[in-house]
Amino acid sequence: MLDDAGLQALREAARFSPDNLPLRRHLADQLLTKGYLAEAEAEYRAALMLAPQDPDITTGLAEAFTRQSAYGAALSILEPHLARAGYPPRMGVIAARALLGEGETAGAARRYHEAVSRDPSVAAPDLAARLAAPPQPVTAPPSPPREADSEVERSRFTFADVAGMEAVKETLRLKLLLPVQQPELFAAFGKRAGGGVLLYGPPGAGKTHLARAAAGELGAAFVSVGLADILDMYIGSSERNLRAVFEMARRNRPCVLFFDEVDALAARRSDMRQAHNRQIVNQFLAELDGVDDGANEGVLVLAATNAPWYVDVAFRRPGRFDQLVFVPPPDPAARAAILRIMCRDKPLAEMDFDAVARITDSFTGADLKGVVDRAVEAKLQQSISAGRMIPLVTADLVTAVGQVRPTAVREWLTTARNYVLHANESGGWDELMPWIKRI
Ligand code: ADP
Repeated sequence: MLDDAGLQALREAARFSPDNLPLRRHLADQLLTKGYLAEAEAEYRAALMLAPQDPDITTGLAEAFTRQSAYGAALSILEPHLARAGYPPRMGVIAARALLGEGETAGAARRYHEAVSRDPSVAAPDLAARLAAPPQPVTAPPSPPREADSEVERSRFTFADVAGMEAVKETLRLKLLLPVQQPELFAAFGKRAGGGVLLYGPPGAGKTHLARAAAGELGAAFVSVGLADILDMYIGSSERNLRAVFEMARRNRPCVLFFDEVDALAARRSDMRQAHNRQIVNQFLAELDGVDDGANEGVLVLAATNAPWYVDVAFRRPGRFDQLVFVPPPDPAARAAILRIMCRDKPLAEMDFDAVARITDSFTGADLKGVVDRAVEAKLQQSISAGRMIPLVTADLVTAVGQVRPTAVREWLTTARNYVLHANESGGWDELMPWIKRI
């Protein structure tokens, strides 16, 4: 590695021959290695102008972004390359770091293990330690059980990062957070902490984000489990995996244990392995009830589903998922707030979030993320061509809105109507009714 004098000489040389690509690239690599991240970023950008498609320069720039916590920027320049087969394995590792920074652990693990399987020399033990074990092929023997890609996360989000949804947050606060934050008060009224909350709503409305934020708000660990993954595993190990994730949550209390796609349990009941699935449902319920009294003390179970009508009634008994909470698509004020949150670490000039919110009716949080990512990507390309940073303005978001197709909130509400309109005797779907009547 160069000492600082060597680096200085390299800087001078690059200044004299600005079009010497290998030289600029070498300078950028050295700056990155020595941790001059902003300067490395500028050099890589300059090099990219000389060789716009170069995967190694792109990887260098992405690493500079990632090490400055600009994960979204890193991912948006990597994406076009990652979509092609044969991208450099080192790029996969940087993408994994950026995905992990964005909280997308499962995607990060997939990228990382794929990269290392192609080139073991890119292995990064620190990253590997933060990621789950590599997925085993289905033909592998069922033992030892893998923990279903789950890992213990520390959420960097709190309710302040969740726009709108005031009523939903209040419910969660009362149900999940206050008993832990103020146990004396709850004890005085003879209430125990426990039981779960089932979040339901259209895909992309923010259920996972909300669960993660609840963990952050509480200062609790966060364990997220895709139930479909557990069920797809080798027969016989699903039960062990279920047990393993509950155990992991108990070891890390206080902990929010989050089950995504909880309807997968019910949806499979009609398939061939019916008896087996019945067994898994029972096991799930037993774990939820706590094998012995107090086993789940300090473990807050949240589950999410896009199809609550499939969820087994047995789940809904007191002490289990006795509370159904609707996570609605965001209204205009919430959309403006979501956009504001998503753009807060981006360079902005004139920006009218309310105007963008008005033209994004029926966009979910996930759709808005798509809009922002697209606008940022376009801006980054422009900035690279111009050789200087050009901030985002309202028109950029408006253009991106025209290019993103919102997921079908309307379709979801239509399906919901078919299921619940004639099945609301108990009032369980009350929160959903005003939305359904609107379509
Ligand atoms: P779901 O679990 O309901 O399918 P997600 O929680 O995965 O949806 O939401 C998708 C993305 O949309 C999240 O990563 C988050 O960035 C964003 N998002 C959704 N709702 C909100 C919100 N209310 N505030 C901030 N971001 C949101």
